[in-house]
Amino acid sequence: MGEASPHVVVVGGGFGGLETVGRLAGAPVRITLVDARNYHLFQPLLYQVATASLAASEIAWPIRHLFSKRRDVTTWLATVDAIDAKTRQVFLDDGTALAYDTLVLATGARHAYFGHDDWEIFAPGLKTLEDATTLRRRILLAFERAEREEKKAQQAALLTFVIIGAGPTGVELAGTIAELARATLPRDFRTIDTRKARILLIEAGPRVLPGFPEDLSAYAKNALERLGVEVSLGTPVSECTAEGVVYGGKSLPAATIIWAAGVHASSAAKWLDAPADGAGRIKVEADLTVPGHPEIFAIGDTVTIPGPDGRPVPGIAPAAKQEGAYVAAVIRARLRGETSTPPFRYRHAGSLATIGKRLAVIDFGWIKLRGAIAWWIWGLAHIYFLIGVRNRLMVALSWLWIHTRDQRGSRLITQSAAADAERRR
Ligand SMILES: Cc1cc2nc3c(=O)[nH]c(=O)nc-3n(C[C@H](O)[C@H](O)[C@H](O)COP(=O)(O)OP(=O)(O)OC[C@H]3O[C@@H](n4cnc5c(N)ncnc54)[C@H](O)[C@@H]3O)c2cc1C
Repeated sequence: MGEASPHVVVVGGGFGGLETVGRLAGAPVRITLVDARNYHLFQPLLYQVATASLAASEIAWPIRHLFSKRRDVTTWLATVDAIDAKTRQVFLDDGTALAYDTLVLATGARHAYFGHDDWEIFAPGLKTLEDATTLRRRILLAFERAEREEKKAQQAALLTFVIIGAGPTGVELAGTIAELARATLPRDFRTIDTRKARILLIEAGPRVLPGFPEDLSAYAKNALERLGVEVSLGTPVSECTAEGVVYGGKSLPAATIIWAAGVHASSAAKWLDAPADGAGRIKVEADLTVPGHPEIFAIGDTVTIPGPDGRPVPGIAPAAKQEGAYVAAVIRARLRGETSTPPFRYRHAGSLATIGKRLAVIDFGWIKLRGAIAWWIWGLAHIYFLIGVRNRLMVALSWLWIHTRDQRGSRLITQSAAADAERRR
């Protein structure tokens, strides 16, 4: 594409941004894809890196490589920290300005602590590969320290794992940590019985998986309890410290606390002073443009828009991908000179959550599935959506190993214990 072609800048190489760039193949535009990290991350399987089931490289791909054959796409590793919509420029954190004709913001979200940001150090969340390896280190270190701890109270705290928030990520983490403690680790330790580890899933609301129908929530709760997870509902956490948590008026010593309770959008709304909801998500127009800026689109977890049922479109990968595809179609239509385009229409294919080995729930709307059949569909869907044959084979093989031999190949403690202790101080 020549210099004269319209310049489309896409910020964010997550599910939404990648889809837009992918769907613009062959369009008469130059594209610059800017991301703060050099890889696309398959967040739905991040909990498996945190629980030593998969290696980081199995769920992340270098963005630059994904578009190596696309001469129209330039990839920049850089963080955007401001936008001047009047002069149509994006500013990077090193002060570089990048001019655009059309801008697509797909900068996602991060976990939020509902005004308790000081809890993050004690209860890290799960959003990036660094988060996943931090959690993996803390989980594995807790078992290591418990093995050598002589004081019973301290040992009990080391063997107590608290997960706050019972949405899909909290449920997946709780179930997998229980399997790690009950099935994978027992033979490897001499002093402790890892099967006695306590895994608590604490939820402020009345049920686990609140986005699912009530009968599937009830099934998931029973399945978790059968795995040995203690589920506590209607009990908000009021304190997180280096010693443990306070929830429902009770205090519980715990060395490992994981936050899976809330998200806050990226700063995209702030950059543009755009209307946003309480979680910082831009309230976009029906064509996914930012109000007052027809040349700026925003998609994925950083926006909110009502779905066909009037409820906000959920913050899930298929929604971000549908929005990314829609924006590419609108950009193409505008290049053809079309001035009006039909509004974005979200189609919900279904909700999936896994609980543990051969345990999952699926709500397709027209049919609800649970147990082994749901787990197989969940597994096949995730393998299908991974990028590249090699990764699909690697993940399938890792899962086969876990499911036939209870072995998890990624039980690596990376970064020193001292570094972790330092962070917690
Ligand atoms: C632990 C976890 C589990 C999940 N499980 C599921 C699941 O099972 N099924 C499902 O459908 N969805 C799941 N989701 C949600 C799904 O991952 C998101 O809905 C989806 O990633 C949103 O896509 P996105 O493109 O909006 O943002 P993201 O995929 O988050 O991508 C945002 C990109 O923007 C980049 N970025 C952010 N800020 C800047 C900046 N200032 N400058 C440059 N680049 C920037 C980031 O580096 C990132 O690459 C899960 C999410 C998490 C965290």
